[in-house]
Amino acid sequence: MINEKQKHSDLLVPSTTGPSHWGEQYNTCTGKHQSPININSLDVKKVNLPPLVFQGFDVAPRETNLTNNGHTVVVTMESEVTPTVSGGPLSGVYEYSQLHFHWGDNDTFGSEDMIDNHRFPMELHIVFYKQDYKNARTALNYPDGLTVLAFFYEIAPEDNPMYQEFIELLGNVTGSHLSARFDAPPSLKDLIAEDLLHYYTYDGSLTTPPCSEVVTWIDFKEPILLSHAQVQAFRALENEEGHPLTHNFRPVQPLGDRVVLYNTDEIIKQVDLDEEHPPEQPEGVDTNKIDTPKSDEAISSPKDPNSRKHPRNTASSPFTSQWTVLGASLVFTWIVFCCSDRYC
Ligand SMILES: [Zn+2]
Repeated sequence: MINEKQKHSDLLVPSTTGPSHWGEQYNTCTGKHQSPININSLDVKKVNLPPLVFQGFDVAPRETNLTNNGHTVVVTMESEVTPTVSGGPLSGVYEYSQLHFHWGDNDTFGSEDMIDNHRFPMELHIVFYKQDYKNARTALNYPDGLTVLAFFYEIAPEDNPMYQEFIELLGNVTGSHLSARFDAPPSLKDLIAEDLLHYYTYDGSLTTPPCSEVVTWIDFKEPILLSHAQVQAFRALENEEGHPLTHNFRPVQPLGDRVVLYNTDEIIKQVDLDEEHPPEQPEGVDTNKIDTPKSDEAISSPKDPNSRKHPRNTASSPFTSQWTVLGASLVFTWIVFCCSDRYC
């Protein structure tokens, strides 16, 4: 019986022609908000988003299977507690669907998103669908249908012990469409980085056909460390033609009008400083218009990247403005009152 999680792995099956031909069969692959992208770290908007909330990440699944589907390695889990993620740039709760990897022929490239034109040797994608949409396939019909937690890998001198059984099992799924089962299934927390505060986020797409623009990407800054030999184990897998399964990443796509956000704790100090010591404004600039939310909708819509402001920014600015207006009104009233009584 095919369950929803297995069906979702079909989403990762690319057409037989290369990425440059995907648009011939799938209009969405030529969209304006495609993934992956190159993230220019000097051209991101720093924000303090609400904390991401991870549930069930530290629970070892009852059963975990690893499958070579001819295009990547997919990991599916059966668990008492389905891991979920919420908070951060997300509205609503997102449920775990599957995880898979992208890698290259050697250690100099392999990741899909790039940071400052740098490719990492491998990238992990943990795919979640919005709980409201019941399953990953239905979620593809909604712009906020999926979120992918992405982690980059870097090469370290030592093996990563948390990946030991994972790497051993790769030897059992060398051929396309082979599966293997973990003896001691790792929890999601075992497989990811520790720092979950610093991340880039932007609205993008699936990186394989149908390239649906339904993904909130969350790319964590801290890489996961694996040894060269551990990454090399992925390169020993074979595709459906029996050739080495490598280079399963899509070229970067134009950023277009999108804004990449970078979640950091630095801005808290910056906001406090700014409130106490507002910077001098050049002549002709109306300070009341800076950082003042345009409408309630702009504050509450997390899909609008320009609206993803720290709550303190959105909450404090109108508050400050109201008191400024009230103060100015009192002074104006006093002046009118005084002048009308000829006290001036
Ligand atoms: Zn992927």
